[in-house]
Amino acid sequence: MKIIIAKTAGFCMGVRRAVEMALDAPSRHSNPIFTYGPLIHNPQVLELLEEKGVHIIRDIPETGDGTVLIRAHGVPPSVKTDLRQAGFTVIDATCPRVIKVQTIIRKHAQKGYAVIIIGDRDHPEVTGLLGFAGDRGYVAGNLEELASLPAFDKAILVAQTTLNTRLFEDVKSWVQMHHPDYECFHTICDSTAERQAEVRKIAGQVDALIVVGGCSSGNTQRLAEISRRSGIPTFHIETEADLDFKALSGAETIGITAGASTPNWIINRVVRAVERVPSQNGAGVMRAVFTLQQTLLMTNVYVAAGAGCLCYTCAALMKIPNILPHAWVAMLYVLSMHTLNNLTGLKSDRYNDPDREAFYHRHRLFLICLAMSSGAMGLLIACTQGAMPFLVLLMMSVLGLSYNLRLIPERFMMAGYSRIRDIPGSKTILIAVAWGMVTSALPAMSSGRSLEPAVMVVFLWSTGLAFVRTAFFDILDMQGDRIVGKETIPILLGEARSIRMLRTLLLLFVFMPVCSGVIGVFPPLGYGLAVCPAVMLLLVNIHENGFMLPGIRLEFLVESLFILAGAVTLLFGVLLRS
Ligand code: SF4
Repeated sequence: MKIIIAKTAGFCMGVRRAVEMALDAPSRHSNPIFTYGPLIHNPQVLELLEEKGVHIIRDIPETGDGTVLIRAHGVPPSVKTDLRQAGFTVIDATCPRVIKVQTIIRKHAQKGYAVIIIGDRDHPEVTGLLGFAGDRGYVAGNLEELASLPAFDKAILVAQTTLNTRLFEDVKSWVQMHHPDYECFHTICDSTAERQAEVRKIAGQVDALIVVGGCSSGNTQRLAEISRRSGIPTFHIETEADLDFKALSGAETIGITAGASTPNWIINRVVRAVERVPSQNGAGVMRAVFTLQQTLLMTNVYVAAGAGCLCYTCAALMKIPNILPHAWVAMLYVLSMHTLNNLTGLKSDRYNDPDREAFYHRHRLFLICLAMSSGAMGLLIACTQGAMPFLVLLMMSVLGLSYNLRLIPERFMMAGYSRIRDIPGSKTILIAVAWGMVTSALPAMSSGRSLEPAVMVVFLWSTGLAFVRTAFFDILDMQGDRIVGKETIPILLGEARSIRMLRTLLLLFVFMPVCSGVIGVFPPLGYGLAVCPAVMLLLVNIHENGFMLPGIRLEFLVESLFILAGAVTLLFGVLLRS
């Protein structure tokens, strides 16, 4: 079964901004924190905000304290005044594109124009817009309502930002015919128009379309409506729990899109559930492959195999013989640390990867034993390679184990950091350095070649690739990590800047082995290895262009890069021997 995920699925700019402001509010503004009305039309996000201490108020009390956040839809100006008079601090998360419509309305209302808003009169955005028109505002939900309005000397028309684009086109034609002097402002948000256009396009390529989003979300309802009108089976669901696997089982290609108020982590969960459709209803090869991929990823066996392959590659670049013990050390260390990391990171997996969370709860004891025994075995093998590799690995293991422990008592805490994991960005950097150490530095150490140029370049290259891998996963998990308060590098830098950084690094890692080959620091294998960062670069670009969302397949693909490095090394070895 093929899955097509809409590029435009998920939070639009305005909603993302409002949700981030709400998540940051408890630590930045005076508590208690409220939103004026539900922040977005998504019950799961609202539940989560409630858990984080962001409550909803629907009416303005006579007096109050704390902070009130105005949601992306905006409010009439009088609401802000009343909130301030009641004693609240007001933070305004009105979407900049809604502010633009409010500005058009206010400017024209002040000049005496009648303001006709085409939209849903009960929608909070429309209520807010009306507030800017004073007593000159009118709302029409369709052409009949528009035709029933009195004729005005001068009037403007604006659209609710999430209006169906086709309806507004009809409205404009009607106005041209009946009131050519009225001025029409195309205020439908690009994000809405693009989302709707993409649904029309995808509908022609799939057997069924899943629209993810709150049942009361107007823009999600419109997406489902557009899909249904195109004649394909359409399923409007709020979460993966609403999926009808039986109804989907006959579909060969399934499309997935989502409303502007649907967070990525809910879409990811739906994608992962839909990926399971063949394993629940289908049989044969696909089912076996999917289950195998999932098991290898969840147990970290696949990522450990990747570390082993990367170690094999690094050893070949450094021309270190007898690589097997080093590859085992790398595999066992990575298996141990990643499993421990997953065991302690279940809070964010609840959002990012619920299957993994359930798996780790179900097999907790087994996984703890696996992590401990693989860590101990890795140390034992390192011991056979010399005192230095053993001590370094021991230090790295202790560091890994203490990553989540409170190392500094609260009263001596500086800058709010009491655990290593509290240091912003520490996870991404430490994982990468640990990978670099076990895949290149330890093998070099045990063969007494630590400071050679080839060793340095290999260390930088392997650490860098591991950094890109981890940071890329961090980008995919940004929304879930933000919710649980994890400060990964993508959260600190923002998605766009993080992607730019990864692209630059990957270009560097494409040229690094090639240039090292040219100047003789690396053997000819260096030329072949440029393919690994190049493939990763392609994946990053594809993701940036919105063609992929996290799922088992993407995770498997990324983890396969190190296996690819091992395969290239093996191939070069065979070719050079023959
Ligand atoms: S749909 Fe457009 S106007 Fe509405 S909140 Fe999102 S970005 Fe802003």
